[in-house]
Amino acid sequence: MIEFREVQKYYGDYHALRGISAEIRAGEFFSLLGPSGCGKTTLLRTIAGFEDISSGAVLIDGKDMSNVPANKRPTNMVFQSYAIFPHLTVAENVGFGLRRDPRSSAEKARAVEEALELVGLKGYGPRAAHAMSGGQRQRVALARALILKPKVLLLDEPMSALDKKIREQMQVELIKLQRELGITFVLVTHDQEEALVMSDRIAVMFDGEIAQLADPETLYRHPNSRRVANFIGVMNFLPARVTAESDSHVALEVPGLGPLEVTPDQVAAQTSGGEATVGFRPETLTLLYEGQTASDREAPGVIDEVVYYGDMTYYDIRLDGVSAPVRISMRNVFGRPVLDVGSRIRVAWSPGALVLFR
Ligand code: ATP
Repeated sequence: MIEFREVQKYYGDYHALRGISAEIRAGEFFSLLGPSGCGKTTLLRTIAGFEDISSGAVLIDGKDMSNVPANKRPTNMVFQSYAIFPHLTVAENVGFGLRRDPRSSAEKARAVEEALELVGLKGYGPRAAHAMSGGQRQRVALARALILKPKVLLLDEPMSALDKKIREQMQVELIKLQRELGITFVLVTHDQEEALVMSDRIAVMFDGEIAQLADPETLYRHPNSRRVANFIGVMNFLPARVTAESDSHVALEVPGLGPLEVTPDQVAAQTSGGEATVGFRPETLTLLYEGQTASDREAPGVIDEVVYYGDMTYYDIRLDGVSAPVRISMRNVFGRPVLDVGSRIRVAWSPGALVLFR
């Protein structure tokens, strides 16, 4: 649906997009994820035609968009600041883009009502836009974009101004809406959780480049670099020493965990050129309670910090022989106590859950 070919963008001397090549498939929910300033908004704007590119090409539906102005592209954008007109009614806002539509006013009114229904605002048409809540305004903005039936809907951090609860609700609604309509959605977000929840695929961007493009599970389980691993969720790192390697395995010595082996598919694709490091997610470790035995391997340590979240507890553990703590997340189970700081414990872990960065 959308293809970036070696897209470069300079703002004066500043190199904002450094050779972006990627494809976004028709009907997918695609996210551009990265920290502030990485170029994700710029890239989104090149799809809309709000931003000229310095070199390369952006294609939509196989067609080079170089000479196609924004208003002639099959795209529509929903912005972070809802950009609705407060002095108009909800229906006037939603119907705004139909001003020059040749359809009769009755037909347009029907289209407005349909769009409002899509976003869960059926019957809200006559209300004043300024009297709507933040979440409702964002829905109005969404309905206004959808009424034009774009092939691609571009979403620039549309939920970042909303409260956590409303944001989570909107996320679920947006996913449903996207499945229902089958339109290609491209979302810009700096919120990794939002990207993981919503997307079919995610492009993680740093410094004007795509660091990794994959589905959420692959990004989480097989990050191709420490930087991606750190940006998506929490990952523990321990220094490692490669002691032997063959086509089928890499043998390592890891302080705190001892000697272990990983398979080649556990080795991150990008080499960092530094010291070898193993990474593991907090939920791949288990704290063993008195009398419990590990089905896999175990390591002794002391609880350094306890962070209680109600459904979960995070424990920071100092494994014997390691100075930096590792984080373990444990689902709280009724009847099982949360352990105290200073408790000596054992941790179960599995070599299969590790990622080797080197
Ligand atoms: P954020 O989440 O903060 O919006 P972003 O990843 O979307 O970040 P962009 O808005 O794409 O980042 O900006 C990328 C870089 O280009 C930033 O360093 C920004 O300062 C710079 N930039 C963006 N627009 C312009 C402009 N019109 N003129 C000059 N520099 C710009």
